[in-house]
Amino acid sequence: MAESRTRIRDASRRSWAEPWKVKMVEPARWTTRDYREKCIREAGYNTFLLRSEDVYIDLLTDSGTSAMSDSQWAGLMLGDEAYAGSRNFYHLEENVRKYYGYQYVVPTHQGRGAEHLVSQVYIKQGDYVPGNMYFTTTRIHQELAGGTFVDVIVDEAHDPQSEHPFKGNVDLDKLEDLIQEVGSERVPYVSLAATVNMAGGQPVSMANARAVRELCDGYGIPVLLDATRAIENAYFIRQREEGYRGKKVAEILLEFCSYTHGCWMSAKKDTLVNIGGWLALNDQAKFDDARNLVVVYEGLHTYGGLAGRDLEAMARGIEESVDDDHIRARVGQVEYLGNKLLGWGVPLVVPIGGHAVFLDARRFYPHIPQDRFPAQRLAAEIYLEAGVRTMERGILSAGRDPATGDHRYPKLELVRVTIPRRVYTQAHMDVTAEAIEEVWWRAGEAKGLRLVYEPKYLRFFQARLEPAE
Ligand SMILES: *Cc1c(COP(=O)(O)O)cnc(C)c1O
Repeated sequence: MAESRTRIRDASRRSWAEPWKVKMVEPARWTTRDYREKCIREAGYNTFLLRSEDVYIDLLTDSGTSAMSDSQWAGLMLGDEAYAGSRNFYHLEENVRKYYGYQYVVPTHQGRGAEHLVSQVYIKQGDYVPGNMYFTTTRIHQELAGGTFVDVIVDEAHDPQSEHPFKGNVDLDKLEDLIQEVGSERVPYVSLAATVNMAGGQPVSMANARAVRELCDGYGIPVLLDATRAIENAYFIRQREEGYRGKKVAEILLEFCSYTHGCWMSAKKDTLVNIGGWLALNDQAKFDDARNLVVVYEGLHTYGGLAGRDLEAMARGIEESVDDDHIRARVGQVEYLGNKLLGWGVPLVVPIGGHAVFLDARRFYPHIPQDRFPAQRLAAEIYLEAGVRTMERGILSAGRDPATGDHRYPKLELVRVTIPRRVYTQAHMDVTAEAIEEVWWRAGEAKGLRLVYEPKYLRFFQARLEPAE
């Protein structure tokens, strides 16, 4: 009997599913297009100014939006809310040492708290801070401390269509040229991000991290890591770099961090918590300075602006975040959405990033000039179409040049469709993909926007816009 049957399923393909099941749900509300028209107008065409309850699928950010596990929720009940010396701090410190490999840990309320400390401790007025593409909050703290950020990422990072597997890499020639030009004493550290958010969630190779370290050792310059999505970076190294295939993501992470002298961390991303961050350093003198400063800005050095329970959720989140099945499902869901859109010809940044799919607004709206905010318009259109919230990563996010006051015109004009961890199902991805394809199909009709209110710092969070004509 068996011989006469024809197999219909493609037996070479075996699917995998998320390594968790849902225990609690939060309702999400579908709205009408008329209602959404009113909402986006009232929000000044800025998706940051929408109310969350008016959003159906919230892909604004992966920051603080993860679903915590039952173990993390149980950990909240074990919060030791002592002002000083909470046992949860020591658990966090132990796990940062074990999984990231740094010696000294300062907790902070979130990533920018750590960015503030590290910038104040390392940077002097007139310094230059080279990095593999700017990040909004990272750069503003470097500038407020008196530094000038200099982009030394490889050229491929600025090309949304380049298939380079490690578009987050530092261009070693650009880095060395800068050091030669300004002198190593004016370069307090190299600001290395993994993965690179603004380039589209693109990874840095292990070979590149090793080479950056070697180069910097020659000049006595430390390398500091923005470790916010370093685990996603480690996963990409395993997938794409020779020699790492069979390794555990946890091992790769540890090796990667070993090429750096410390890190700052937004635990709201990789670490699967709703709030938290840390600064970790190997240099004891710099740690002493940071630990002193944290008392001024965040709280005592064993809580850093967090409750004991938050520290416990972070300590447990670190362990879960390096699990191989977790990270495969996390990046795999982003890939699923990206591949669906690519299959329909929607213009995206390739390769698909680790935390988000980045839509190429220049190719959606070639008829809208960059100073008419094409990516901002695209994010508004996606919301109007299906109540899906995304975020602009283009000229509005890039802000103004502090010296000239002009817009900075980034090569990349993108919309980030960011996937929270462990929150949405494949069906949510399907609804999102169909809405984006619909907007792509009608792209010729869209018009630009103009600013009506612009705050001084990190303007994209609070700016208000209106249709340009
Ligand atoms: C989110 C983020 C930060 C800042 O962290 P917050 O927790 O939002 O303050 C820094 N670097 C990168 C790459 C980020 O994505």
